[in-house]
Amino acid sequence: MNTESNTALPPREAMEFDVVIVGAGPAGLATAIRLRQLAVEKGQELSVCVLEKGSEPGAHILSGAIMDPRALTELFPDWKERGAPLKQAVTRDEFLFLDETGAKATPHALLPECFHNDGNYIVSLGEVSRWLAQQAEALEVAIFPGFAAAEVLYDETGAVMGVATGDMGIHKDGTPGPNFERGMELHAKYTVFAEGSRGHLGRQLISRFKLDEGRDPQSYGIGIKELWQIDPAKHEPGLVVHAAGWPLDNDTYGGAFLYHAEGGKVSIGYVVGLDYKNPC
Ligand SMILES: Cc1cc2nc3c(=O)[nH]c(=O)nc-3n(C[C@H](O)[C@H](O)[C@H](O)COP(=O)(O)OP(=O)(O)OC[C@H]3O[C@@H](n4cnc5c(N)ncnc54)[C@H](O)[C@@H]3O)c2cc1C
Repeated sequence: MNTESNTALPPREAMEFDVVIVGAGPAGLATAIRLRQLAVEKGQELSVCVLEKGSEPGAHILSGAIMDPRALTELFPDWKERGAPLKQAVTRDEFLFLDETGAKATPHALLPECFHNDGNYIVSLGEVSRWLAQQAEALEVAIFPGFAAAEVLYDETGAVMGVATGDMGIHKDGTPGPNFERGMELHAKYTVFAEGSRGHLGRQLISRFKLDEGRDPQSYGIGIKELWQIDPAKHEPGLVVHAAGWPLDNDTYGGAFLYHAEGGKVSIGYVVGLDYKNPC
């Protein structure tokens, strides 16, 4: 079957896999690892490939990040011995309600479960993704960094049969330039989309297969995050601070986070629900 939308260009080459995964974030890599672990346990052949649009796994990952290690322990009970980059355990949680002039701390015992971080770690999710990619490669997962899945491929029954990477080196008018390279087709029995939130292909699939029918709509927030190297005298490794209240009014969802990571660094950020009414 011809899966191509542009017939004026030379045909694309195709590679066959059992499973193609789009996105080398924690979800895509954990999927690849678990599938290969099961195949090795059962002595079965299973070819798995992961496409990542970033220059390397982890390059496009943005997160806080406090990590609950439960899922990692299920995947690799010996993650510590394997050198997983979970080095800074959370030592203390603080939750502050801010007003214009100060802050009131809430006693730990009164905080909802989601603000209890006992047993969690402050990590760089980019580093965790790079480490997961190494573990995946050791299990013979083929990772293709620097390639974005640009198009979903469908078979004659309308089922997903893989993805294609985009053509490269095309002029603005759509004609091939001197560095033109045709995209590749990756065909698979199963294609897993792990693009993260608001994935470009995920949105097409949601619309085509009406995956959102009868479901709650997605809710979105906007966030900013910086990584600061701070004065060692003010750094308390493992301290997690969340704050709510000022400058947001009571009707606006959001708040701040400060995570004291290893090496004198602090992840500092602010998130606001996108249904805010007051743009200031
Ligand atoms: C500011 C911020 C703070 C956060 N803090 C925390 C926290 O403290 N604790 C916590 O547990 N979670 C936190 N999160 C959420 C957490 O980061 C996400 O839940 C997690 O990253 C989701 O993992 P994922 O693998 O589904 O997607 P992502 O991490 O988004 O990974 C998707 C990957 O797919 C790649 N990709 C996307 N489209 C394509 C394509 N078409 N072709 C090829 N590759 C593609 C991307 O480059 C990326 O590498 C935070 C998120 C943000 C933004």
